[in-house]
Amino acid sequence: MIRSGNELTEDLVVEAPACVVGLGAGGSVVLRALARAGLPAVALEEGSDHTPFQFNQREEQMIPELFQERGGRMTDDLAIQVLQGRGVGGSTIHNTNLCKRTPTEILELWARRYGVEGCGPRDMEAAFQTIERDLSVSRIPDDGINPNNDALRRGIAALGWRGGVLSHNRVGCIGSGFCELGCAYDAKRNARKVLIPEALDRGARIFSDVRATRILHDRKQVLGVEGRTAGGRRVTVRTKVVVLAGSAVGSAALAIASELPDPHLQQGEHLRIHPGGVVAGVFDQPIDGWKGIPQSYECTEWLDLDEKSDKRVWITTAFAHPIGTAVVLPGFGAAHMKSMRGYRHLAVLTAMLHDESAGHVWLKDGTRTMLHYEMNEGDRRQMVIGLRACARILLAAGAREVVVPAVPPLTIRREAEIERIDANVVRPHNIPLTAVHPMGTMRMGREPKTSVVRSTGEHHHVRGVFVADGSLFPTSLGGPPQISIYAFAEHLSPHIVAAARG
Ligand SMILES: Cc1cc2nc3c(=O)[nH]c(=O)nc-3n(C[C@H](O)[C@H](O)[C@H](O)COP(=O)(O)OP(=O)(O)OC[C@H]3O[C@@H](n4cnc5c(N)ncnc54)[C@H](O)[C@@H]3O)c2cc1C
Ligand code: SF4
Repeated sequence: MIRSGNELTEDLVVEAPACVVGLGAGGSVVLRALARAGLPAVALEEGSDHTPFQFNQREEQMIPELFQERGGRMTDDLAIQVLQGRGVGGSTIHNTNLCKRTPTEILELWARRYGVEGCGPRDMEAAFQTIERDLSVSRIPDDGINPNNDALRRGIAALGWRGGVLSHNRVGCIGSGFCELGCAYDAKRNARKVLIPEALDRGARIFSDVRATRILHDRKQVLGVEGRTAGGRRVTVRTKVVVLAGSAVGSAALAIASELPDPHLQQGEHLRIHPGGVVAGVFDQPIDGWKGIPQSYECTEWLDLDEKSDKRVWITTAFAHPIGTAVVLPGFGAAHMKSMRGYRHLAVLTAMLHDESAGHVWLKDGTRTMLHYEMNEGDRRQMVIGLRACARILLAAGAREVVVPAVPPLTIRREAEIERIDANVVRPHNIPLTAVHPMGTMRMGREPKTSVVRSTGEHHHVRGVFVADGSLFPTSLGGPPQISIYAFAEHLSPHIVAAARG
């Protein structure tokens, strides 16, 4: 049963073996695991439930409907746009379906440096296999590589750089290119399609359009969750297990608002976001980058996940729909119109950082969720490396010119001009930056001084509070996080089930 909080005509109190807050990648896995164990939990999701018929491929309607803060979430200095989902299925509804496991180097680093126990490559293998099977993960077929991704492939082949075809969780995809606005063809094997129906069949209850506002606790043990609908109705779930799965932003905000004990001031800290900058190549021939599977190829030449590495850039494609492109393309009036007329001829790449800068989530006036994040010098250097690499790839692929949408914009026509992309170009507010992978604000580890939850996902200080989303990760991943989040939720679920059984 999915019931919308908007239909409630009075306050509601329910009892449940567990309450899951947030139904994205992590929360949906846990809801299913609890239901499979005969413990039908209650889930609160602040966004609505959508069907594929509602995904009308209109940017101006779908972005406000499916994204947090109507697509306008930014870091508190307004320098970086942070895109996150809001609705049953969370960010898996509008993500671009790339699937990569947590790299072995990263799992080993977490064990070695952050005291994460029982989550090494061998420990995680079964969870990765389960999730990949359930989501039907497969390699994107060669004929699914559209001309935008082919430009990336050709460019790195010409340069002799490392890269390859990505894997995805789509079945029956017709290559419409609208993944980021929700799939009208129901081809995504995402949390809403795969995990939630089974949880519902086994008795889970979902309240959509209900925002959890407070975790009830006595500082040692959790007692329940309180939520609110947009119309002001109160929903109270009495339970001894609460699973925070509202994403690295939502879970930290709720933990802080609920005043969970935090003697070492760890909640909301260590935020990583994989900040990304874009470079566009203008080609003589049409690219029509909006058609086909949006992201199917990657360049890993500038990515080395070793702890001390100075290669921390992951490159893939990043084609935007017309409004998104118009916002980023430089210029005004006739000059801007001229650039937009070239839309068909653009191929766009993004350089995303395996970031080391640490931001934090905080609450303005005690309620409004805010993100503070500033790129440090090291990450700014990596961004220069990344944008230069994108420019080289596009020129090598045959671009007539390459445009970096800085203020003022940089137009590059020859390899020798690439060095004009420098630290000055990458200074804050000078180029548009976007982040779609927040992580790490409720991180796991052995030491309460440096982490929020144990390696079981349970809070260090309050029994019965678990975390099962991207907040868990002690560092950045350096690649798409959804499989890591699904798999960690799957791997930690037995601890949650055991706690709910009492
Ligand atoms: C445009 C875009 C493209 C992406 N593409 C990819 C990709 O191709 N591959 C990949 O691996 N990753 C991708 N990602 C990232 C990936 O989708 C996310 O990392 C992942 O879904 C995060 O999982 P999560 O469980 O942490 O949170 P989410 O999936 O974001 O779910 C959190 C849910 O909790 C809800 N919530 C938050 N606070 C509350 C509250 N207080 N009360 C009730 N509900 C609450 C939110 O509304 C949301 O529905 C993409 C993300 C975006 C934005
Ligand atoms: S490209 Fe495929 S998965 Fe994406 S919206 Fe179109 S049909 Fe759906």
